[in-house]
Amino acid sequence: MSAVAAELGEDVIAARDGILAFADQEVVPRHRANRELFEDPRALYRPDGRFSDALAGLIDEVRTASARAGFYQMCVPEALGGGGLGHLAYYVAWEALFHHCGPQNWLMLYALAHWAFGPSRLLEQTTERARAEIMPGLMDGSRSMCFGLSEPDAGSDASMITTKAVKDGDGWRISGRKIWTSNAPVADYCVLFAVTDAQRAAVKQGGITAFIVPTNVPGFTVQRIIRLFGHIGGDEAELAIDDLYVEPWQILGELGKGFAAALYGVSLGRIYNSARAVGYGRWAIERALDYAKIRRAFGNAIADYQGVSFPLAESATELHAAHLMGLNVAQLLDAGQPAIKELSMTKAYSVQIGFRAVDRAIQTHGAMGLTNELGLTEAWHALRIVNIADGTNEILNRTIAQRLLKGDTDL
Ligand SMILES: Cc1cc2nc3c(=O)[nH]c(=O)nc-3n(C[C@H](O)[C@H](O)[C@H](O)COP(=O)(O)OP(=O)(O)OC[C@H]3O[C@@H](n4cnc5c(N)ncnc54)[C@H](O)[C@@H]3O)c2cc1C
Repeated sequence: MSAVAAELGEDVIAARDGILAFADQEVVPRHRANRELFEDPRALYRPDGRFSDALAGLIDEVRTASARAGFYQMCVPEALGGGGLGHLAYYVAWEALFHHCGPQNWLMLYALAHWAFGPSRLLEQTTERARAEIMPGLMDGSRSMCFGLSEPDAGSDASMITTKAVKDGDGWRISGRKIWTSNAPVADYCVLFAVTDAQRAAVKQGGITAFIVPTNVPGFTVQRIIRLFGHIGGDEAELAIDDLYVEPWQILGELGKGFAAALYGVSLGRIYNSARAVGYGRWAIERALDYAKIRRAFGNAIADYQGVSFPLAESATELHAAHLMGLNVAQLLDAGQPAIKELSMTKAYSVQIGFRAVDRAIQTHGAMGLTNELGLTEAWHALRIVNIADGTNEILNRTIAQRLLKGDTDL
């Protein structure tokens, strides 16, 4: 029996089932075999906060094994050498991975190319030369990338970036600072956003360009690893860009129109994070239901108390709605619609209700819900973050309101 009436195509079902089988064969056993490593932050991270060699090695193993099996790049356009599956498959596969693996088998994050770390539709806008140089490594999982848009003084209003690309001969010299750049500590390439026309940028009429930059060139420095939630290491970094030389073949999209590329990348991030919230929420509610049936208090299983079961029922209802929204918006995008309002609604709603579902699952477990063993707090942390990354809920509401006020009231 399925709760979802919409029929998924055979290709999407095969992609989803295939990647779940891959996770069972290649991800879950690695977590089991490396339990001591995963439970010891000092073994996971170096003193400077970067991934340890042991962790980086496991990530590489998962990514390259998935690429060999054809899952990693299955949603990359065929023109770039990928499997050509669309946004629906991307949403369905990520939702299924998060739901199935939960937060503890997190190497699954590397089983499917993440829009900002690996090959994606965004790279359709690269030049022939850039494709020849970067795509082989990205496609076989041996190389990864990062997305450098946010700066210390430009977050929600990313058009305020001040990283500058100054013309030098045929190319440009880029200088500036980036912050929160995920995967930057290990990435081989960065999609780096810089102002190429200050006058146009000042009036928000273009003037920002995206460049593909190798991270091992002079002028690209990972200055600091940013730690979150008390962790001793992390994946986000602050970057210093100093006089970094780029050539025209490194432009992604069009000169002065990098902001469109940025928005498309962030859209992919919104699909990914909507799937993440629904998947983790479903995983957490299932753990809570199992526990409520066996935990006893005042002579009964706690599931017998409506104070316990009704919040779970509410979360199940919300997750069902968010799941349907996710499937719907992915289909709109596959049909070529921009779906700006619908994607904003889906991400804002999914991360709120996913977070609430995990919080309720923690409450259902009492003190047990706070333990490292259950992993609920890991999901809670992850979903707290995505209320900010790829557009805060306030900014998503701003976008929805703007669309409504312009007359886009179709619901
Ligand atoms: C874990 C993580 C990973 C990230 N990875 C990347 C990455 O790989 N690459 C990258 O470029 N960036 C990345 N980011 C940055 C992310 O995109 C920004 O954090 C986000 O856009 C918000 O910007 P800010 O943090 O500067 O908040 P600010 O823009 O300073 O906002 C602060 C608060 O003000 C609110 N606010 C701002 N404007 C308005 C308004 N008009 N109306 C109402 N409220 C408003 C915001 O909603 C927020 O609550 C990441 C962030 C996180 C947390």
